[in-house]
Amino acid sequence: MTKQQVKSVVIAGGGTAGWMTAAALAKTLGGAGVSVTLVESEAIATVGVGEATIPAITKFNQRLGIDEHDFMRATQATYKLGIEFADWGALGESYFHPFGRYGFDLEAVEFHQHWARLRSLGDAHGLEDYSLNTLAAYQGKFVRPEPDHGSVIGQLGYAFHFDASLYAAFLRDFAERRGATRIEGLIESVEQDGETGSITALKLDGDRRVAGDLFIDCTGFRGLLIDGACGSHFHDWGHWLPCNRAVAVACEKQGEPVPYTRSTAREAGWQWRIPLQHRTGNGHVFCDAYLSAEKAEEVLLANLDGEPVSSPNHLRFRTGHRQEFWSSNCVAIGLSSGFLEPLESTSIHLIQMGISKLISLFPSAIEAPIDRAEYNRLMRDDFEHIRDFLVLHYKATRRDDSPFWDYVREMDIPDSLARKIELLQSQGRFFKYDAELFDVTSWLAVAEGQGLGPQGFNPLAQGLSDQNLRQSMENMRGAYAKAAAAMPTHQAYIERFCKAP
Ligand code: FAD
Repeated sequence: MTKQQVKSVVIAGGGTAGWMTAAALAKTLGGAGVSVTLVESEAIATVGVGEATIPAITKFNQRLGIDEHDFMRATQATYKLGIEFADWGALGESYFHPFGRYGFDLEAVEFHQHWARLRSLGDAHGLEDYSLNTLAAYQGKFVRPEPDHGSVIGQLGYAFHFDASLYAAFLRDFAERRGATRIEGLIESVEQDGETGSITALKLDGDRRVAGDLFIDCTGFRGLLIDGACGSHFHDWGHWLPCNRAVAVACEKQGEPVPYTRSTAREAGWQWRIPLQHRTGNGHVFCDAYLSAEKAEEVLLANLDGEPVSSPNHLRFRTGHRQEFWSSNCVAIGLSSGFLEPLESTSIHLIQMGISKLISLFPSAIEAPIDRAEYNRLMRDDFEHIRDFLVLHYKATRRDDSPFWDYVREMDIPDSLARKIELLQSQGRFFKYDAELFDVTSWLAVAEGQGLGPQGFNPLAQGLSDQNLRQSMENMRGAYAKAAAAMPTHQAYIERFCKAP
């Protein structure tokens, strides 16, 4: 018997996940004779709050051939150089997680080892003095690094803040121009093969039927296909990441948008502030075992820096992932596949990871057990690596002012995270496993920022004399300060290249 080829892909759901998937597949599959159809219902709202990203999104746009400035104009976007965390390590403290690296390596030994040694000699300069991203962010500066900018500006890493609904509309236009078909309709049920259990069609209102070979579940937290039809079990991580609700509201913008996200820890969670060109997005992520929804909304509204321009939007979520992201002939991408709270803006990145792995493992037949198993293994690794980094933010706290902080400070953590903290804290050792997302810069920023930074350093950092070390580090600080001072303001850059109409 010949195996049934994949000739049609049907995407259920048209939020950020659905349209990112449709755009990437329409671009990639068109030439291979595979059709792409997306079904969405205007009667069911998208979650609509994914507005902050991480630098890998620039690669997604590049692969699609999207002009960055066009995309920014269309989505009211601003640049993001990192995240400021306030009140996380202790009340009154703050630090910056930059998207570009710290310093330059010296004598083939990592920069941060030299920094830790200099500190042991009594020098008080912090990591932020060696971070162009941090200096530029706090001065409200931005320039997109170009190849002829040199090695200092070349270290600047960036991502975007954008309006999620405008981004989905932008990608819809992109996908439809490349042959993707959109069907407006409410999915009422899923038709499955009685023998194999594989999905054969989506049944829509009005007695309509959309048949396909491969189905992508982008129906958000509902997981209509992956949960409803395929019954893929949800692996819950609520004991490590206890926040399970959020309330979001947009407010008027105040002054020029800063090029970074702000995350402020609250009594039972934290609050985000995401500046766009036309407004500011805000939200309060919290755990309902420690704070009521009414109180969470009150705290959010009391801590806005402009008048609200939308009604508070309450959301519930579970942290964790599907045991099988790809089950039978259904691949879950986006919120249907799992969710890690938005502390490091990683959900859109996980959508991107799902899409790129699906393209690399695109099945030649409907039954693809080897490809499916590899996809599931790789996605599980991605989720676990990000989970550990998020848990670090909670575990590495000295706050003892509320039962929520007492719980997360005292909780057991995954062994993989305990090992990483021990290595980092003893002598600044850090290793990226497999295709792990966050690198030494990110781990150092959070660990040092919250009081778990390296206590010692690699003995090989002693290769430089004290005087040479002091001089080299001073030169670096000078180079970063000069580069930041010479950059245009974030607002001036936007006005020149990508101001929304
Ligand atoms: P949704 O947006 O929920 O879209 C689901 C789609 O399925 C909709 O089009 C809906 O119409 C359709 N649908 C559902 N049921 C049916 C049906 N029966 N028939 C037809 N259509 C149907 N991510 C980030 O990267 N950065 C952030 O800063 C960030 N912040 C977040 C804050 C919060 C509080 C939350 C909850 C999430 C955040 N995320 C963030 C995650 C981000 O919002 C999502 O990953 C992203 O929006 C993708 O959502 P989605 O497309 O999977 O689902």
